[in-house]
Amino acid sequence: MKIEEKLYTLRYKRDEIPHLEIKDQMTCKKCEETYGTPQPCISVCPANVYSWINGKIVVSYENCVECGACKIACPFNNIIWKYPRYGLGIALRYG
Ligand code: SF4
Ligand code: SF4
Repeated sequence: MKIEEKLYTLRYKRDEIPHLEIKDQMTCKKCEETYGTPQPCISVCPANVYSWINGKIVVSYENCVECGACKIACPFNNIIWKYPRYGLGIALRYG
């Protein structure tokens, strides 16, 4: 099954409070200088949550599938990662 098909089996309840945040955008700039683009968070995310726009990381947290890969992949520990509040975030559409 392709990743797009797997993502279709999820449904989202948007949490108004972002559960993902970048600690320091200057660190992302340093990351870009060190690793180039796409940076590790962009490379590992299966849901295209992270984008590099005008020299900053933009976080589309609403699309997150809560896999945790970005937290592990970020070489600078620069992501504040929490689960969405109770009852919000992802759930299986057929589960
Ligand atoms: Fe920023 Fe971490 Fe992403 Fe690098 S991997 S751009 S430091 S969030
Ligand atoms: Fe992407 Fe997974 Fe990180 Fe969510 S937890 S932003 S899906 S890598």
